Amino acid sequence: EREQLARLRHMPSVTRDGQAVELLANIEQPEDAAVAVRAGAVGVGLFRTEFLFMGRGGRLPDEEAQYRAYRAAVEGMQGLPLTIRTVDVGADKPLERGARDGTLNPALGLRAIRWSLAEPEMFRTQLRAILRAAAHGKVRMLFPMLAHLTEIRQAIAQVAQARAELDARGACHGPVQLGAMIEIPAAALMVRQFLAHFDFLSIGTNDLIQYALAIDRADEAVAELYDPLHPAVLRMVADVIAEGARAGKPVSVCGEMAGDPSLTRLLLGLGLRSFSMHPTQLQAVKREILQADAGLLVDWARQVLAADEPAACLALAPDGSAAAA
Ligand code: PEP
Ligand code: MG
Repeated sequence: EREQLARLRHMPSVTRDGQAVELLANIEQPEDAAVAVRAGAVGVGLFRTEFLFMGRGGRLPDEEAQYRAYRAAVEGMQGLPLTIRTVDVGADKPLERGARDGTLNPALGLRAIRWSLAEPEMFRTQLRAILRAAAHGKVRMLFPMLAHLTEIRQAIAQVAQARAELDARGACHGPVQLGAMIEIPAAALMVRQFLAHFDFLSIGTNDLIQYALAIDRADEAVAELYDPLHPAVLRMVADVIAEGARAGKPVSVCGEMAGDPSLTRLLLGLGLRSFSMHPTQLQAVKREILQADAGLLVDWARQVLAADEPAACLALAPDGSAAAA
């Protein structure tokens, strides 16, 4: 079985009925880029840059250090696209920065884009480093935890200002597409506004589930209730995928749902054509895709979406191994 999975690695991921599906990797360190390419990913859908910021006793990496890290990742991609997410510290990924201690509710506090916008100098340092790295390959920039239109406007304005700062000092920089994470229910419900401002979207189901169901994603005491198949979660995921298709803009899922082979058919049936996951999951998800008939899955996915207990419908997927269970 292991060998069979390995052979799948560089086979294009296309469904039985000829639908091409993009399989991307989630990475946390620059050197993981090459690992992702070797694992058969056609790009990185999520580079979690916060790991460059964490565990440094509060000292933040400067522009040069970040530029070197992002450039190393870009070069590891060998021409394939790299999606760099701006820093997402706070909540389950604390910076250990003294000044931020004592936050009342970290998951609802100054995390991710909120922290970046609260510290614009620090934010633009990261943006400049990313823009400079973009001169060396295909780079896309992704913002975490956006919920407000004002945040969207500010984030985009900061990119323009960072670019102007690089121009002012004659530094090289490259083009980047801008994308937003959809990981707060409010963002999913106003996806049209997001699509109007961004080139692409990426659904962060880990946080979307947490915030939709009011379940701390890291709290074992309520882990039973953390349900990716909750009808409310599925409806938001389905809507974002559908609206993206209508707008003709790419939508990916980069939360854990994308790497769970038991959910591959459902996401395909909902119209998803881009999955980003831990590199170790790529083969198993690809195997599901190769066996799936995307056309047949559409009606079934609609039924799952309308069901009171979507989990019970999973085993009824038309064709293939998922139905065996
Ligand atoms: C998510 O929330 O689904 C996501 C991909 O981001 P992270 O897990 O880093 O919060
Ligand atoms: Mg998240």
